[in-house]
Amino acid sequence: MSTRPLNGRCALVTGSTAGIGLAIADELGKQGADLVLNGFGIDGAIEDLRASLEKRHGVRVTHHQADVSCRVEVQDLVDAAHAHGRGRVDILVNNAGYSIEAPTESFGIEAWDHQVAVNLSAPFHAIRCTLPGMRLRGWGRIVNVASVLGLVAVPNRIGYVATKHALIGLTKVVALETAGTAITCNAVCPGLVGNDRVRESHRKQALETRQSPEEVQRQVMALRQPSGNYIPSEDVAAMVAYLCGPHASEVRGAAWTLDGGWSAR
Ligand code: NAD
Repeated sequence: MSTRPLNGRCALVTGSTAGIGLAIADELGKQGADLVLNGFGIDGAIEDLRASLEKRHGVRVTHHQADVSCRVEVQDLVDAAHAHGRGRVDILVNNAGYSIEAPTESFGIEAWDHQVAVNLSAPFHAIRCTLPGMRLRGWGRIVNVASVLGLVAVPNRIGYVATKHALIGLTKVVALETAGTAITCNAVCPGLVGNDRVRESHRKQALETRQSPEEVQRQVMALRQPSGNYIPSEDVAAMVAYLCGPHASEVRGAAWTLDGGWSAR
């Protein structure tokens, strides 16, 4: 089997200057896809990232700084991606997203609107703008990065749980509308990924409660993630790359979990 099954493809990954999105971009590049990065960061650091991906994987990489909460900027991003891909965007990964913690009655109204814009409307607009080109060329892969909280709920995360559930619904609709074609649309549903932000939040909690970060991690995991382990972002990336590859052509409308058993309870 080719180790670069995505050779010649062009992939747009939203929110890919850090975290899970960066791991996904790295894996798709490793498998041969030209890349369009998106997300915030310091200019010099993003340029280093871009150049390093090009050098390591021998693919063409560009960055576009669209704020995906704005639909006009999503359209600009997709246009720039088509230009980079010499007319094609074969793979779209809607990854940008975030969570806010607050009880429903005090969840900020603007925070709600912004979370809906980033977590749900941005994938809709990005899909709406890339799908016609995919249909024209008769091939495409769309992967939406949802969450285990797209399948089960927890308190104090109304915006996140609602938008991630809706993102899975959106995934299924697009999958059905493209079912007779070589375009697929799926979602991945990670549990708690051990990125810097999650570890920092556990460190902060540990300071506040005078425990060790390991103790806080054990308590959080005991409540949520039965394996007790963080999900490696590289594992999420490998799952996304599989969904973009030749052997996933009949995976349609799925919401695949990697959640250490969270949703099995
Ligand atoms: P992160 O905060 O580490 O990285 C987010 C990336 O998105 C960065 O590149 C940032 O610059 C970019 N970004 C943020 N807002 C943006 C905007 N408005 N427009 C464009 N880019 C923007 O995030 P992460 O933890 O890697 O999460 C990535 C995705 O995975 C999200 O959709 C999140 O909901 C989902 N997820 C995360 C976890 C977890 O434990 N971290 C678990 C399940 C699902």
